[in-house]
Amino acid sequence: MTLRSPIRTCIGCRKKREKSSLIRFAFTLDGGIQLDRRQRLPGRGAYVCPDVACLEKAWGKKAFARALKIAPSRQKHLDQDSLERLKVEMASLLPGDKDRCKEGELDEQT
Ligand SMILES: [Zn+2]
Repeated sequence: MTLRSPIRTCIGCRKKREKSSLIRFAFTLDGGIQLDRRQRLPGRGAYVCPDVACLEKAWGKKAFARALKIAPSRQKHLDQDSLERLKVEMASLLPGDKDRCKEGELDEQT
């Protein structure tokens, strides 16, 4: 398989990258944002670099609301709690997370 992945723009830093190297977020029916690990959830998707900084940047400028076309009346879930939850979930997908886990284990041993 040599299929090239389509190009998407990170809504945080506006860099263009291959879709497969970005993390997709989808808008759920209850008005929240969900991390779409398999990039297969129905509906609109928003793409962010695999970098928590880009997620925060996108959140800060309400890029999710724009990218996912979320009406103002349904943006109640775009709050700090949701951001923290998504940050944790995203961090768990990133390679660097393993190092953080090791640090945690070391802390327990000492
Ligand atoms: Zn980015």
